[in-house]
Amino acid sequence: MVTFTNLTRAPEIGANSYLLKSGEHSVLLDAGMHPRLDGWEATPLMDQIPEDLGAILVSHAHHDHIGSLPLVTAAHLGAKVLMTSGTAALTEPLLHNSVNVMTRQRRELGRTDYPLYTHRGVDDSAVTWEIANLNRPFRIEDAPWEFVFHDAGHVLGSVMTEIRAEGRRALYTGDLNLQRQTLMLPCQRPGAFDTLIMETTRGAQPAIPGQDRTFFEESLLAGIRNTFERGGAVLLPVFAMGKTQEVLALLHHARLEGKIPKAPIYIGGLGRVMTEVYDRQRSLNPRQHANLRLIPEAQPETFDPRRLPQLRLRAGHIYLLSSGMMTPQTTSHTIARLFFPREHDSIFFVGYTEPSSPAGILREAGQGSLIDWGDNREVPIRCEVRYFDLTAHATREDLLQWTCQEVQPSRVMLVHGDPEAQAWFAQQFAQNRPGMQIIQPPPGQPVPLFTQTP
Ligand SMILES: [Zn+2]
Ligand SMILES: [Zn+2]
Repeated sequence: MVTFTNLTRAPEIGANSYLLKSGEHSVLLDAGMHPRLDGWEATPLMDQIPEDLGAILVSHAHHDHIGSLPLVTAAHLGAKVLMTSGTAALTEPLLHNSVNVMTRQRRELGRTDYPLYTHRGVDDSAVTWEIANLNRPFRIEDAPWEFVFHDAGHVLGSVMTEIRAEGRRALYTGDLNLQRQTLMLPCQRPGAFDTLIMETTRGAQPAIPGQDRTFFEESLLAGIRNTFERGGAVLLPVFAMGKTQEVLALLHHARLEGKIPKAPIYIGGLGRVMTEVYDRQRSLNPRQHANLRLIPEAQPETFDPRRLPQLRLRAGHIYLLSSGMMTPQTTSHTIARLFFPREHDSIFFVGYTEPSSPAGILREAGQGSLIDWGDNREVPIRCEVRYFDLTAHATREDLLQWTCQEVQPSRVMLVHGDPEAQAWFAQQFAQNRPGMQIIQPPPGQPVPLFTQTP
């Protein structure tokens, strides 16, 4: 019997990692790091991974899916590591960046356990990675299962993983999007499955009729136009990988179509490295505008954070800077102080903002409020603050419909979502698909991957 164990420490979007086991064979799906916790608390339940782990399959290059990879590969030297070429090309520089962040935290916060791994550790891990292509079944030596990667439409290289075993089929969605973004295509739709292991990120967030992707794209462009007309600059706090490239492509096309004036766009150093990967990989992974090369065509300027102390914001400039959560000491957090006192400037959010993060607090507080920006002093927020939902995740309505009409599983496992998000799906599935088993896999406890016939 194949079992599935959730190695994430709590039901949330944390250190995503899931173990498949059949007899002495085992495979790990993702090896993430918690985005908000620190130290070993931020890693998955690694002591539950069998010593002779057969393989690690990586769904995509976000930190909550790859952040612990060097730790797991170092502890399981015999494990094969498989991912798409896009994921491999993004993961290596992102993990090196994580080492830099942890090294800085060691210095600034006195964390003697940091870094949890080193640049050498990332290099040692990377030499073991193998590329797996989309839609081509692959096996792990003599193990009793077969896998297929399907494009997930989330970020460059992202996949859903099909698991074929016991004559049945399961699908681990990773993070997916059923609708298009600017660069990413909608995910593939590989049909019906016996078991669906599904991300539930947006389960607590209802879609509003009429407010689709195009609506938010046009609203963002109108917001930028208005800001420029009153002589302001725009800050878009974004993740260096994924959102930076999607928004840059959107702005590039808007400038070509005359929807916004030709304005300089600044991106961060890591954002530039990630954009170069998107350019190099443009024809190797499914995407729209497959010929578009963002660096030479959109010509973003690289923002040097050392300029911050002397920086004067200029009318008509766009700052596309990380981090998306405005974590203290990141460029978007520091530069935001220049925007706060100026009514004609704007801070626009374009993605998920965790409610307790500085971005979440600022977004909730809004224009006209007072906010403590981390130094126990209240500052007035005079600039415009708005949110445009350019999500990289499927809406809950899309996931519900897709599951009930196409996947039609007899068992669904809800993962990668907060308790309220999972609860919404559990309740909707109970109503819409009576008879389907709904499982919220408890951390560390194996459950059968497929329904068991009595
Ligand atoms: Zn993701
Ligand atoms: Zn994720």
